[in-house]
Amino acid sequence: MMRCGGFCERIVDGKRCTQVATDIHHVVKADKYIKQHGGDEDAYFDEANLRGVCASCHQWLTVGEREGRDVTGCFGPPPESTWSPCI
Ligand SMILES: [Zn+2]
Repeated sequence: MMRCGGFCERIVDGKRCTQVATDIHHVVKADKYIKQHGGDEDAYFDEANLRGVCASCHQWLTVGEREGRDVTGCFGPPPESTWSPCI
């Protein structure tokens, strides 16, 4: 897990989700993102493409992707008070 103690980063109706992030979501699908990086498998773990989300938001994102909805724009920067990077 690349982000410790983080909360879900999805924005729901203008507010940030308040659930603890238990899942990692790839903003750009992992296989596509790796291709964009010339097949570099390390891109799978590129934090720029990862968002911590709760299980229910992850479900929502997965369903949205499957249905072809654009779900990439629904994340916000985490408030500093609730987020600290792993060092
Ligand atoms: Zn959530």
